[in-house]
Amino acid sequence: MQTSQREALAKQTRISLCSKVNRAMSEIPNSVDADLRGRARTVIPNGMWGHQNAALLPDGYPQFFASGQGCRLRDVDGREFIDLMCSWGPIILGHHHPAVEDAVRQQSEWGDCMNGPGPVLVDMAETLVDTVAHADWVEFQKNGSDATTLCVTIARAATQRRKILVARGSYHGAVPWCSPSLVGVTAEDRAHVIQYDYNDAESLREAVASAQDDVAAVLVTAFRHDIRRDQEMPTKSFAKAVRDLCDAAGAVMILDDVRAGFRLDRAGSWEPLGVRPDLSAFSKALANGYPLSAVAGVERLRGAAGKVYATGSFWVGSVSLAAGLATLQVLGSDDVVSHLEAMGQMLRDGLYVLAAKHGLPLRQTGPVQMPMLSFQNDVDHHLAKAFCSAAVKRGLYLHPWHNMFLSAAHAEKDIAEALSIADAAFGVVANQIESVG
Ligand code: PMP
Repeated sequence: MQTSQREALAKQTRISLCSKVNRAMSEIPNSVDADLRGRARTVIPNGMWGHQNAALLPDGYPQFFASGQGCRLRDVDGREFIDLMCSWGPIILGHHHPAVEDAVRQQSEWGDCMNGPGPVLVDMAETLVDTVAHADWVEFQKNGSDATTLCVTIARAATQRRKILVARGSYHGAVPWCSPSLVGVTAEDRAHVIQYDYNDAESLREAVASAQDDVAAVLVTAFRHDIRRDQEMPTKSFAKAVRDLCDAAGAVMILDDVRAGFRLDRAGSWEPLGVRPDLSAFSKALANGYPLSAVAGVERLRGAAGKVYATGSFWVGSVSLAAGLATLQVLGSDDVVSHLEAMGQMLRDGLYVLAAKHGLPLRQTGPVQMPMLSFQNDVDHHLAKAFCSAAVKRGLYLHPWHNMFLSAAHAEKDIAEALSIADAAFGVVANQIESVG
């Protein structure tokens, strides 16, 4: 595409940003989002990679966003949404949180990508070690997959063993050893991965036994948050069994806290269960939207971590570390978890009342601060898709088959507004059911 065409489209984008009216995408003449999708399809396979491809979502979802503030997002056509996805987790304090943005601005002036880290690396490492209960040391990366993969490598280095035990259906990243897709993945990539069932201590015991003396690590997520199924909290006895089986087998216990980290408990998601991992992987909420992940470990594994060759060109970027430090400072001074719980409970209670009013069999599972919606007997998520499609067209951004996220920026008035939109969206679904049946 010619530069002049790009400039014309960019101008059109800016003009449409001035529009504040919420309208369904199909009603928008010359939708900027549609133009961008068309251009993207020419230069990007499928127009977008992975789960962030809006073509996977029902009618009405935008692919491209223009700005975010607090708990609101604006798309490139000027539609505003109450955001209940929080960028799939990273936005824990709200889009554009002033303390984080100030830290980012200041650090950007000083420098980001330099020949080595800035002092902020040490400040952030000290703060994360102070925050996470089991952490004696930390290392930083960029993505959640970097952190989970590094945990596995450190566990193998420490134990000199090969097998990694993972729960069937759990997501740990999009790299060959754990990707949910087998496209481009070899049998050898998966050769030492053994599956067990989440919340089933017996199946974990069997998996440990089947690995004989070769178990390097048991990997477990903070709760069961597999896509397209109801969420499930870990039982105390399962959490304890994970710890005990790791200890008995001499294996490393890895908590994948990438998705839940800092929303359930600031000190680590299994703190309320009284079970501490040897290694944990954090990302998403760690820097309120800036690219940062971390591995946190116990003293016993410091030597192994030090021997593993771990590095990445952008892993010491000072801006993300400054964002992370500011985020942890806010999490340390404000009781964000309690706020998320209160807002999540208000949303959950309200949605139950409204769904019942419309005669719809709503289910809500998992922790209230990471809401997950489904409808009973809703094969292929037809009802969930219809509900979310109606909601997004009215300015509420939900997800029909993935857990969602709340942030500190969601206030009672935002939840009340979200509920009033949900009321209308439930009404649309109830009418659709009535007209079909
Ligand atoms: N582990 C869990 C539990 C996750 O939810 C994710 C991301 N959804 C990852 C690992 C991988 O993180 P990333 O996409 O940043 O590589």
